[in-house]
Amino acid sequence: MQTIIADQEEPKCINHPQTATSVRCSKCLDPICLVCAIRTPVGLRCPKCTGAARGRDGTYFVPSLLAQVSRQQYLKALAAATAIGLVSGVAWGQFRYTGNIGDWSFWFALIIGLLAGEGVARAANERRSPQLQIAAAGTVLVAAVVALAWGVLVKEGLTFSQVRPYLGESVIRQYLGMTVPNALFTLFGMFLAAQRLKL
Ligand SMILES: [Zn+2]
Ligand SMILES: [Zn+2]
Repeated sequence: MQTIIADQEEPKCINHPQTATSVRCSKCLDPICLVCAIRTPVGLRCPKCTGAARGRDGTYFVPSLLAQVSRQQYLKALAAATAIGLVSGVAWGQFRYTGNIGDWSFWFALIIGLLAGEGVARAANERRSPQLQIAAAGTVLVAAVVALAWGVLVKEGLTFSQVRPYLGESVIRQYLGMTVPNALFTLFGMFLAAQRLKL
């Protein structure tokens, strides 16, 4: 009987039913303990009313506005990433097979990395998140694949199954742009793109 009365007198935290508390959210008036109370300019509030996320250690934190990416911003970012990847990939491939100067097109990867980071960041209204980083880095990878496909499929009119038996020959690999500098610079471009979206 004693404990029941005590329970009624001391409200329990809505997130931690074991914890008695006299603190209430200043908005919804739910009882909250000091672990989940978020200090705001208008008093202590519960995680629900502040949009706080629960961390791995059980404490709550309010995500930075920068990291709050809406569905629409993700879709815009994805559209920008796809468009940049395709267009710059074609440009990269076209340059590689037009210029008869050996494959000096690897520096395209850096420019595409900067473009991808900038484009995805702007499309997502300057938000930042790991997913946006992946989208931006993926743009450079898409461009590299499109550049390769552009030469084989469009310029030469060949399919990959026709090309595959000759991939052992370094001349063919170089012709396709499957070179060490291209691979390294593609990685570097992906890194540059991801840096732009870093939280
Ligand atoms: Zn509340
Ligand atoms: Zn609590």
